[in-house]
Amino acid sequence: INSTQSRYIGTLDSMGSSMETVIHKVAMVGDKGVGKRSLTNQFMTSEFIAFDAENDDEETDSLVTVLLNSEESTLEIDDRPFDLQEMSSRSVDAFAVVYSVTDRSSYQAAVDIMYHVRHQLLIKDKPAILIANKIDLVRKRKVTREEGRSVAKQYNSKYWETSAALNHHVDELLVGILSQIRLYKTPELP
Ligand code: GDP
Repeated sequence: INSTQSRYIGTLDSMGSSMETVIHKVAMVGDKGVGKRSLTNQFMTSEFIAFDAENDDEETDSLVTVLLNSEESTLEIDDRPFDLQEMSSRSVDAFAVVYSVTDRSSYQAAVDIMYHVRHQLLIKDKPAILIANKIDLVRKRKVTREEGRSVAKQYNSKYWETSAALNHHVDELLVGILSQIRLYKTPELP
């Protein structure tokens, strides 16, 4: 495990014994109103959650422990708004770049963020996942699947279409983010 970017918390495993858990930080980025908070809230009710932390602490509000391939990982979902220029100073394990398919300018903002992360910050060793949200609003849709896919492909990223409102593909996205984090942490990969 690459611990340089990671924090650890003391926690209880599913059997109730105490253990140390590494926390992977996921930054939810994108324009205001695209559904970052809604997706984060849905993550907290995912069926992949390994156990309920039962913690009322503000600090651990955005922690979610996911069970994937019989292994638990804790993700910290950070959806606080922040400046693009500030991005480098955050120790982040994955970028979840969200836009709304009903809002072209949010798509453009997502494209800019992908560019910024890859070219300006030169972050190539962290996954950036592109998320097209609000796909339930079919008749208001302004950005096609092909447009999303081609940007994701250009930046060697995964592309997900979600609806936080209908909880559609949200659990799959959470697990997808974790698989990307694990993949990027294996030494022999990019
Ligand atoms: P944030 O500013 O990116 O955190 O966006 P929010 O999560 O606060 O969502 C902004 C608005 O969009 C809220 O009114 C949400 O209810 C709505 N919203 C979020 N996701 C979806 C979605 O998938 N479909 C629809 N129809 N509305 C959504």
